[in-house]
Amino acid sequence: MSNCNRLHAVNAVASRPVPPPCSGKPFSLDFYGDDVFNTAAMCRCLPKETAAKLLATIRDGQPLDPAIAGDVAHAMKSWAMERGATHFTHWFQPLNGGTAEKHDAFLEPAGEGQAIMAFSGKNLIVGEPDASSFPSGGLRCTFEARGYTAWDPTSPAFIKRHANGATLCIPTAFCSYTGEALDKKTPLLRSIQALQKSVRRLMDCFGQPAARARVTLGPEQEYFLIDKNFYLHRPDLVQTGRTLFGAPPARHQQLEDHYFGAIKPRILAFMSDVEEELWRLGIPAKTRHNEVAPAQFEIAPVFEELNLAVDHNMLVMELLRQVADRHGLVCLLHEKPFAGINGSGKHNNWSVSYGRHNLLEPGDDPHRNAIFLTVLCAVISAVDRHADLLRSATASVGNDHRLGANEAPPAIVSIFLGEQLTEIIEQLEKGAPQTSHAPGAIRIGVDTLPPLPRDATDRNRTSPFAFTGNKFEFRAAGSSQSCAGVNMVLNTIIAEAMDAISEKLEKLPKETFNEGLQQVLRTIISSHKRIIFNGDNYTDAWCAEAARRGLPNLRTTMEALQPLRDPANQELFIRYGVFSRPELASRYEVFLEEYHRKVRIEGQVALEIARSMILPVAVDEFHRRNTALATAEKVGAKHGVSGLCRSAELLGDLLDQLYAACDHLEAMLPEKHECILEATVALRQVVDRLESQLDDKCWPLPKYREMLFVY
Ligand code: ADP
Ligand code: MG
Repeated sequence: MSNCNRLHAVNAVASRPVPPPCSGKPFSLDFYGDDVFNTAAMCRCLPKETAAKLLATIRDGQPLDPAIAGDVAHAMKSWAMERGATHFTHWFQPLNGGTAEKHDAFLEPAGEGQAIMAFSGKNLIVGEPDASSFPSGGLRCTFEARGYTAWDPTSPAFIKRHANGATLCIPTAFCSYTGEALDKKTPLLRSIQALQKSVRRLMDCFGQPAARARVTLGPEQEYFLIDKNFYLHRPDLVQTGRTLFGAPPARHQQLEDHYFGAIKPRILAFMSDVEEELWRLGIPAKTRHNEVAPAQFEIAPVFEELNLAVDHNMLVMELLRQVADRHGLVCLLHEKPFAGINGSGKHNNWSVSYGRHNLLEPGDDPHRNAIFLTVLCAVISAVDRHADLLRSATASVGNDHRLGANEAPPAIVSIFLGEQLTEIIEQLEKGAPQTSHAPGAIRIGVDTLPPLPRDATDRNRTSPFAFTGNKFEFRAAGSSQSCAGVNMVLNTIIAEAMDAISEKLEKLPKETFNEGLQQVLRTIISSHKRIIFNGDNYTDAWCAEAARRGLPNLRTTMEALQPLRDPANQELFIRYGVFSRPELASRYEVFLEEYHRKVRIEGQVALEIARSMILPVAVDEFHRRNTALATAEKVGAKHGVSGLCRSAELLGDLLDQLYAACDHLEAMLPEKHECILEATVALRQVVDRLESQLDDKCWPLPKYREMLFVY
């Protein structure tokens, strides 16, 4: 019997008890949103007047009346206790990219050995967690560790259940004693507000009746699932979220047979459980399918208001992990868990609506089309002006392995409009003002747009920023990233672009508005059309072409973080009240630090695995081969000596390389990140060659062919 852990893991997967056949229990959605203190719950549990005030804050952005906090807290507590909650927590999103919660019991001693369950308005509105151990980039010294969490009533409180209880979770923003944002939500909320204001201003120019601007997001989440037995024998996955070693298997994704394939029953059971939990939380999970890589999947909800959608995506990631565990699986959200195999992204579907109208929906009449084209042009100019900031928002150690790896968009940001829309934009640029009417040219307010296909415009999967019928899909975001950063940037740069347009439109006399607008859009198109590219973004030709067009190509995190230090960019965020200067500086520090730490951790883990798991196996085998060779020579074997000699030599050579690569990596660990990265890759090359040379039953790390295909 082999004592190889890896083979035990394979056996464990093989002997998993087979789950009972489907019960076919009748399904109802009665529980949808049951664990959310949503509008319905508010109206049920709160006095009418209080509910109305709270809804005004949630729906219309009215300032929160602090006088109602007590009533709301009381109702929330009773509602939560009905669902088994004993504790509450302010749930927030610190700069480490995850979520944070510190639980407090409702329990209050009431004297004489008695206790009551209490939850005050103050408990609801502010929290004061010890914030000293969250990254702050120098904004808050540890000796004044106080951080504050502030209730975000626009994202409803919800219940998290566990085996023997439940917790009331209150979405909050997190800031320092001096009011600086220490989280991802605060700047996001600020950017939404800024964009709403700019949208209103622009819609005023078009004489639209006042309405509410809603920024919407539908994030598609990609992930991998592998059996937990394998995971536990991969210290690299456990510690860094990705495999630092692993030879490519003969078959991986080249047969293209996984994408949209029939979903295996075990995975489907997992997906159903995830969906049930999400629906209970009012998260509208809608789409599920197999993705391109083996063992890769996707889940997508129906879009929602941005702030809520971001919170919901954080919960989706958390629940994917938790439910996987219950199913003996592990959910990998890393951008590139397996080298040479497609990585995971998060397609960020973004749009903005005003009143009932999605502003990115091509309209049926000239007026609506004028608005559509104006918003389209605002996005084009914003993305062209600030491609660097968008790239910046996707920077992470994990995403560095994915962007530009011919499976995900390159690090060059460009816009895909589709041929038809591009043609329209070109005609608009040509479009003669006033009376002259060049053939094929579009004149705003006179022509209607030729009917645009609403779907199927975009099947270009290579573009980082694609118009997909009624929204833009930004595809460079990483699978493990919070959507907050990307959308905060999008909102801010589009607010700026809209304001620039409004400023010009506001000066136009009513009679010549259409001609004036046409002129404004023409100018935008001619100055920013270089950002539009409908071809294959994965080719070298595009990289060269993009360079000619002067588009930034920020290949690595280190390059991609630099735009945060650009004074013009800083000024933009400050002008729109999204960041203060110290906040921006702190973010740069935090991201940089995180990057360096992660690179170093990967180096350390790789070294440890190579020395403590791979080397011993290689040495054993070297010994075996040499013993066999010596024996063969001793007995004067007629055949085999030359083969054994070669194989012992080959292994000896690899062994030398392995020792050298380990020593080199060890020497590089205190050095700069580039040196660590390079040494980690060099070590990997040796280990991966060993994997294909050494006795299969001795190889300690579960192999790619097992992790990706055995589940
Ligand atoms: P595909 O994979 O073809 O891009 P999916 O159906 O997987 O499409 O995902 C599209 C996402 O875009 C969904 O989450 C959907 O709800 C979202 N979406 C649709 N309309 C809008 C909109 N107006 N604003 C934001 N997101 C939207
Ligand atoms: Mg999709």
